[in-house]
Amino acid sequence: VIRCRAAVAWAPGKLSVEEVEVAPPKAGEVRIKLVATGICCTDEHLLQGCFPNAEFPVIPGHEGAGIVESVGEGVTSMKPGDKVIPLCHPQCGECSFCRNPESNFCQKSHFSEAQNLLPDKTSRFSCKGKQIHHFLWVSTFAEYTVVPEYAVAKIDAAAPLDKVCLFGCGFSTGYGAAINTAKVKPGSTCAVFGLGGIGLSVVMGCKAAGASRIIAVDINKDKFAKAKELGATDCINPRDFQKPIQEVLTEMTGQGVDYSFEAIGHADTMIAALASSNMSTGVCVMIGELDSGSEISIDPTLLLTGRTWKGTVVGGSWKMRDCIPKLISGYLEKKFNSDTLITHTLPFAKVNEGFELLRAGK
Ligand code: NAD
Ligand code: ZN
Repeated sequence: VIRCRAAVAWAPGKLSVEEVEVAPPKAGEVRIKLVATGICCTDEHLLQGCFPNAEFPVIPGHEGAGIVESVGEGVTSMKPGDKVIPLCHPQCGECSFCRNPESNFCQKSHFSEAQNLLPDKTSRFSCKGKQIHHFLWVSTFAEYTVVPEYAVAKIDAAAPLDKVCLFGCGFSTGYGAAINTAKVKPGSTCAVFGLGGIGLSVVMGCKAAGASRIIAVDINKDKFAKAKELGATDCINPRDFQKPIQEVLTEMTGQGVDYSFEAIGHADTMIAALASSNMSTGVCVMIGELDSGSEISIDPTLLLTGRTWKGTVVGGSWKMRDCIPKLISGYLEKKFNSDTLITHTLPFAKVNEGFELLRAGK
């Protein structure tokens, strides 16, 4: 058993940094020493008590990078000392979705059977005599975590862990939504709603795919400089207009954009993003998460005329164990610069400050 620090949410609200015990990995599991983690809005949904099927106390975090500390019986694909990314979206390699090249939705995951423990229904974390839940199997807000082998990607030993932790969720999700889920074509027009870590990664993906116009939409104009640096051609604030933003985008492009992306997580912006895509061949990708239990209602004519409305989970068809190492090789070859997404670097004890910065739109 390892004793180390972890940020525990005892209930929705705040995190407290505690000393926790992390049990050794069981058969088929890997114990990882985490070196860096990002903060994603999904962790904020969890802290607000809005994430579906969440159970407290829990160690949040799902965008981390680390080094294998020890492996359980039968683990063959990695060894202590290997650099790895724990995967909030696993790849068992055997289920029908894993065998389908068009899907990245593993059926042997915590999504298919909602649960906040490891696959054998037990926890490897305890604190003050209490069992602590895992989050998305990865719980990266801890100095050590235990993850099933098939939810870990081994990466290049040269990868800087404090930079590539973003590949565990934010960068892969946004970039993959453009490349895989929407399949953005060269010369096309795109609109990206929300310019957080996810939306800015969508902008990078649209640019890499050769889009000729990328319209970035956010109510926080402080996000525009970075969006432009990453490839946005226009930046607009819905609050600067009297009319609905979907009408503004339709006028700007003639008939609506070819691809729209919602990277915020509000029902009204999801509908606005859908209506901004052109009525015939437009594709709208929903990335943002609504609070658990919420519903959306739309005018069905929006779809009747031919539009496509899709969702994506961490990178579209990117199978995480196969693709994360390749994406990181691309990063090391300087094919794209995801470092631009990093706004602040804080020591672990200041995790609550990190959330304050997220809430303040910084
Ligand atoms: P973030 O908070 O960093 O960014 C959200 C952005 O939206 C901010 O810049 C904010 O100013 C902007 N915004 C808020 N209200 C707006 C409005 N009405 N109109 C225009 N812009 C508005 O969040 P993030 O970490 O980038 O995550 C974005 C969403 O994606 C969240 O809902 C998160 O849960 C979800 N997410 C989904 C997946 C997935 O696999 N589908 C993965 C990770 C995150
Ligand atoms: Zn995330």
